Amino acid sequence: MAVMAADKGYRDEKILIVGGGVAGLMSKNRLESLGYNPVLAEQADALRSEGAGILLGANVLKIFRECGLEDELLHYAQPLKEIRLLDEQGRRLGRFDLEKIARETSYPTVAVHRKRLHEILMRSVDAESIRLSHKVISITKLNAGYHVQFDNGEVGTYDYIIGADGVRSKVREQFFGNIPLRYAGYVCWRFVCDLPPGIDRMVGSEYWGSNKRVGIFPIGEGKAYCFMLASAVGGEEKLGFEEVMNNFNEFQGDWQTIASMLAPDTIELIYGPIADLSKNVLHVGRMILVGDAGHATTPNLGQGAAMGIEGAYVFGELLKTYSLDDAMKHYSQTRLERVNDIRNRSWLIGRLAHLESPVWQTLRNFVMRITPHRINQKEFEKAIFHQ
Ligand SMILES: Cc1cc2nc3c(=O)[nH]c(=O)nc-3n(C[C@H](O)[C@H](O)[C@H](O)COP(=O)(O)OP(=O)(O)OC[C@H]3O[C@@H](n4cnc5c(N)ncnc54)[C@H](O)[C@@H]3O)c2cc1C
Repeated sequence: MAVMAADKGYRDEKILIVGGGVAGLMSKNRLESLGYNPVLAEQADALRSEGAGILLGANVLKIFRECGLEDELLHYAQPLKEIRLLDEQGRRLGRFDLEKIARETSYPTVAVHRKRLHEILMRSVDAESIRLSHKVISITKLNAGYHVQFDNGEVGTYDYIIGADGVRSKVREQFFGNIPLRYAGYVCWRFVCDLPPGIDRMVGSEYWGSNKRVGIFPIGEGKAYCFMLASAVGGEEKLGFEEVMNNFNEFQGDWQTIASMLAPDTIELIYGPIADLSKNVLHVGRMILVGDAGHATTPNLGQGAAMGIEGAYVFGELLKTYSLDDAMKHYSQTRLERVNDIRNRSWLIGRLAHLESPVWQTLRNFVMRITPHRINQKEFEKAIFHQ
């Protein structure tokens, strides 16, 4: 027989988390650690992660250590010592020293398969209060709390809502209306493949070319996560595997090694246009938005999921001092500057990477080469640690 919430000693506030991605699961983890028993509603019939690999910076590792999840993550993930920025010939444009950050903070930066991250978070929460095939279709405000309708005909009333339902959030729409996405002008293909021998498994590389980029990040378990970005010209979604790969043929170095060993039938290519949210919104009444639902960013800093994880963690920390109502208010005040900063920095990097004019591209590469490493490093550390 199912163990009831009261038998487990949970607090009795009724909280609904909408969405079982990284942000929703981390929110559930934090609330459970404080004695709450939030229901998590997920529209899909299983909790699964879309996507290939993911970079998790030292800010995420700090949180994972504090939540007791770091060892499990490190069991699968690949710690990185450096991220290299290269031109299309493979010549150095700049680098970020991740070993230095690890030395100074004790937190490594890692890359990992997304499904592993998802599995770790899923295992860390109470599965009994997860409702699959529950898509939220409307939310109505009551005197205190909310009436929620799901697409399977079920309804429920909740005292508090945490919207973690991703970039096209229904929860956000219900509370804030239509906030348009801001399309970045470039598209991305991602895949996971075997890591070829000869590629340093502790180094992530990103090559910047003319309106195109490619990246290789070892993710542990003998695999690499690769991505290709290109300024959009239209019709990209229709391209087949060979056409996509041919489009990025000019990239040299390790990219050639990767490209030459790919067997099309073994690769799952994930395509998507890149966008962020034109305005970040985090809180109203007894509802907060966590993760992409409230603050989707472009992936150029590798901090999108990190912001969702940070947000869930910060909310949990606030709950150690404040009531749920007050923690929600403070969450918004505490997080807005941070997520705006990441979104703006990330957008700017994307603009630099996709400069249209060849003259500006040459100038950009020149400036990147002569910029002292310590300046880039300081900016990178500032973005990650918000100091
Ligand atoms: C190309 C690319 C590379 C990236 N690389 C990185 C990286 O290296 N590092 C990093 O930190 N971030 C990265 N990101 C960002 C990261 O992927 C996202 O920020 C993160 O996955 C968002 O997590 P989330 O839980 O907020 O939303 P999602 O993962 O979108 O989860 C939302 C969940 O809500 C469910 N849902 C939606 N609507 C409803 C509804 N109405 N009712 C119920 N359930 C619903 C969905 O099914 C889904 O399970 C990258 C993003 C892209 C596009």
